[in-house]
Parts: sequence; C-alpha cells; structure tokens
Amino acid sequence: MTRSILMIPGPVEVDGDVLTAMARPTVGHTSPGFIETFGACLQGLRDVFVAPDGQPFVVAGSGTLAMELAVANVIEPGDRAVVADCGYFGARMADILRRHGAQVQVVRGELGDVPSLADLEAALAKGAKVLTITHVDTSTGVLAPVKEYAALARNASRNTLVIVDGVCAVAGQEFRQTEWDVDVCLTASQKALAVPPGLALVSVRPRAMEAFKARKAPVASYYCDWGLWLPIMQAYEARKPAYFGTPAVNLVVALNESVKQIKAEGIEARWARHHKVSAAFKAGIEALGIRQVPVREDVRAVTLTTMYYPEGVDSSLLGRISAAGAVVAGGLLPTIAGKSFRVGHMGIDGMGEILRTLSAIEQGLGIKTGAGVAAAQARWME
Ligand code: PMP
Repeated sequence: MTRSILMIPGPVEVDGDVLTAMARPTVGHTSPGFIETFGACLQGLRDVFVAPDGQPFVVAGSGTLAMELAVANVIEPGDRAVVADCGYFGARMADILRRHGAQVQVVRGELGDVPSLADLEAALAKGAKVLTITHVDTSTGVLAPVKEYAALARNASRNTLVIVDGVCAVAGQEFRQTEWDVDVCLTASQKALAVPPGLALVSVRPRAMEAFKARKAPVASYYCDWGLWLPIMQAYEARKPAYFGTPAVNLVVALNESVKQIKAEGIEARWARHHKVSAAFKAGIEALGIRQVPVREDVRAVTLTTMYYPEGVDSSLLGRISAAGAVVAGGLLPTIAGKSFRVGHMGIDGMGEILRTLSAIEQGLGIKTGAGVAAAQARWME
C-alpha cells in the first residue's frame, strides 16, 4: 500500500536526492570532503536568508535551539524586550527571553490577527533592546508583516535589534533579511528547507554581532555562545578544519543538497511556487466551506493553512484524512487546539500533493462531489 503523504507543518516530505545525500556513509567532521560541503552550505545559506552581510550558524538541534541561539547572545539580564505575539511560538519566545533575564512586554492582536502597528509603536517607544517577530506562527497560520514591524524598530533612530523566528517561513515565504534590515533570523531544517529535522540555523547581521561583542555578562548558555561557534563557522567557510561540538555531518550533507536545489530554482521562484500551491489549497478549502483561523487574506501564511473543523466535526477527522492518504496536524494553540487543524504545504513540487490532500479531506468529511479538488485545480490553472 502507498504510504500517506506527510502534510503537517513540519517535518515535511523530503526530496529523494536530499534523502540519498543523507544516507551516504558518515564521514569525519574534519575530512576534506566534509569541510568543502559545510563551507559551501554556509555560503549558500546567505542566498536563502537573502543576507549577503549575514553570518550563518548551523548547529545540531531543533528550531527551539535556534530561538535560544538568537536570544541568548544579545539579551543581558534586565534588558527590555518586546514580543510581537501571534500565537504559540510568540509565547515560547517570551519564555526564552525571560529565562535569559529580559523584561518582556508581549504585544498581541485578536486571535487570528497580528498586533497593530500602533500597539507595537507604543511598546517600542518605551525603549527596547530587542523586538522579536514570529514571521509565521505555526499554531494560528498568521503571517506577520515583518518588513513594517522592522521599520518601526528603526524609527526615531531606535537601536532596537530585530529578531525574526522564521522557522515556518524561511525558504517558503518571501523574506529579505538585509533589505528589510532584520538583525537576526532563525530557522530549522524540517520546514520549508525540506530537510529532516535536526539542524538549527541562524543568520546574524553586523549590528547584532556588535551588540554581542559589547555585552558585559557572559552568555548564560554554553552551547549557545556565538563566541564558541563563530570561529568554527568561519573556519569551514575558509575551508579549514575546526572543532567545537561535533556537527551532525549527515544532516549537513543533506542540507547542502537542499541549498543547492534552492539555488538552482532561485529563491524568488521558490517563494512564488509556494505561493501558488498555497493559493490553490486555500481555494479548495474555501470551496468546502471550511473557515480559516487567520481573519484576513493579508495575514494568511503561504507555508501552511490553519482551519476550524466544520460544525459537528471533531479531531477524529484527522485519522480519517490520514487513512485516505494524507497526514495532517491537529491544533496547537491551547485556546483552539480541539477546534482546529493544520495542513503544511512546504517544499512540495506542485499540485499532486495538494489534490491528494484535498481529496483525503473530502473523504474524511464524507463529501462525494470533489468540490475542493475542482476549485484547487481551477485556481492552479488560472
Ligand atoms: N518557531 C516556529 C514558528 C515553529 O513553527 C516551530 C516548530 N513548529 C518552532 C519555533 C520550534 O521548532 P522545533 O519544534 O524544531 O523546536
């Protein structure tokens, strides 16, 4: 029997060439071949973050480690931080900031919406070392206006550093780190980069690096200290051996394969492909009368779709969708966890997966007309 396709918002389906790269025999982390691979991968990541002046870090761990790698190095006890909160991962960012001693102000909009520019402006006007933004909050499917928020942080020559959690966005959702003047962006391997889980990625621009160098208190986390990882990343890029903590060699080889694919396609073309796939899926969902969690089109993520169960339907739907061929995810944000479900559409090639997923949803709901599939197909072919 064919296996069900993985349509959750990470981990995602992984391309065969990436999986094959990962299955190559494990090599030493200071072998010439691996040094070349890691060096090329780091260089290639500048195109993924669209940050020619960024310093990429690739460290073994999940996205949560990437969040901590971003925060721990710029926050010192007592610093004020503003969190633009659009769901579950905004709250997690606030927790990490507090753990590192920050005084945190959380700014949030209504459920399914983004914090208003006026509310954010008021919070930033009180002064803040850091503004954090979750580009796409995977619990609500809400897309934050990163460019506009980052511009606020620069208003009135504020020195506020901008940290973007791009875990559910980078390589799927338009994001230009240097042009939008984002100081730190973090992501993980298992979402739009379409690599198995296990790598934390961070891109650090000069202003954040200066703040790190100027800090008085030592970084509270040993494993997260940029000072220990920076010489390693620089050495690999200069094609020299170095060691601090053993890199996840097979995952780095896989990541490099994905980065090569992204370069071959072009990052803009990749964003456009994700956009087209997402629009087709959302057209299918609308045709089925399923309501989305984000309240307006402009706050809807491209990388996933977050929806409420139709009237009279509960989470048992998930099992029926899975049995019909597509694995989708339940709700995550506690207030809507039992009422919502989520479909990720990151990394995939085109419409095959979308039609199969919509068909599985229709089967799970007992809909025989194929209305969702037809609407998605029509949208795709427009
Ligand atoms: N931030 C966002 C926006 C996420 O979607 C996730 C994972 N779903 C994380 C952070 C945490 O990543 P991980 O589960 O890999 O630790």
